[in-house]
Amino acid sequence: MEHTIAPAGAERTAPARVPYRPLFFAALLLLAALAGLCGWLAAQRQTLLSRAGELDRQAGRLEERLEEQEALAARREEALAQAEDQLAQARAELDAAQDTIALLEEYSLAAPDGAVPEYTALCPDLYAPAWEGEAVTGGKVCCLTFDDGPSANTGRVLDILDRYGVKATFFVVGKTGEADQARMREIVNRGHAIGIHSWSHDYQKIYASVDAFLEEFDQLYRWIYEVTGVYPSVYRFPGGSINGYDRGVYQEIVAEMARRGFSYYDWNASAQDATVRPRPARDIAADCLKGVGKDLVVVLAHDSAARGTTVDALPAVIEGYQAAGYTFSPLHPGVEQVTFGYPKPR
Ligand code: ZN
Repeated sequence: MEHTIAPAGAERTAPARVPYRPLFFAALLLLAALAGLCGWLAAQRQTLLSRAGELDRQAGRLEERLEEQEALAARREEALAQAEDQLAQARAELDAAQDTIALLEEYSLAAPDGAVPEYTALCPDLYAPAWEGEAVTGGKVCCLTFDDGPSANTGRVLDILDRYGVKATFFVVGKTGEADQARMREIVNRGHAIGIHSWSHDYQKIYASVDAFLEEFDQLYRWIYEVTGVYPSVYRFPGGSINGYDRGVYQEIVAEMARRGFSYYDWNASAQDATVRPRPARDIAADCLKGVGKDLVVVLAHDSAARGTTVDALPAVIEGYQAAGYTFSPLHPGVEQVTFGYPKPR
């Protein structure tokens, strides 16, 4: 009976245990649920972490690609700049080539139909002697030139030049007297250059045609050789390369004489001594010295019996250029040509 009838105290305690059991299970369930939740959260955290890692890697890859794209863009920009430079260079070269073509056309010996002018066959022996000297480069150089000689003043000019150890150039005309032949020989023997001016100095005649110019040129060329034993290689146009008489022929003359190897020289300082009345030596010297400052000066003066004051001015001219640091040179193909500019045809 003890088993079926519980003591009064046991009856009091048994009902008291009943409420704890569900609580216990509920707690267990709760714990299990919490554990499950924790597990799920942990799993979620893991998933999120790995997702974050994945996104991180993706971001890294995108960043890398962005950098690559930026580097590519920089390289493209550089290539574009290079291409632009090359284009500018090519354009400059094209311009230069077109200028050269224009110049060649301007100076071309060939007529529009392609025919070569007949004057190229004239004077078959008229070619400048081969030049083997050294080019004059650098420093300040003065080239004194005397046109229209020889003359009664040639000897005085030569003596003054000798006194200063200066070599000059004489552009002579066709003079056949014994005294003039002796002067031509003196010019050459004392180490100066002898060049061609023209036989007659008659503008109307020599600029009538290229043929006429060539004829006189050849006559003087052969005469200079006969008298002095040297062939000249430089010349000066009577009146300068641009004058009132040679407009229709000067380009062809320049081209034809260049083809034959001759160099012509105009001037960039002048004695201004081709006047009716001789000017004072002081004024002539001052005009000659207006070339001071240029790297290469070609001074025009005249060797003529009526130009005594030009000779008087010579020492001051030489001393003036020497004081300004110039050396003197005769003209030869090694000296850069000083020529008047031709306006370009439009
Ligand atoms: Zn002259």
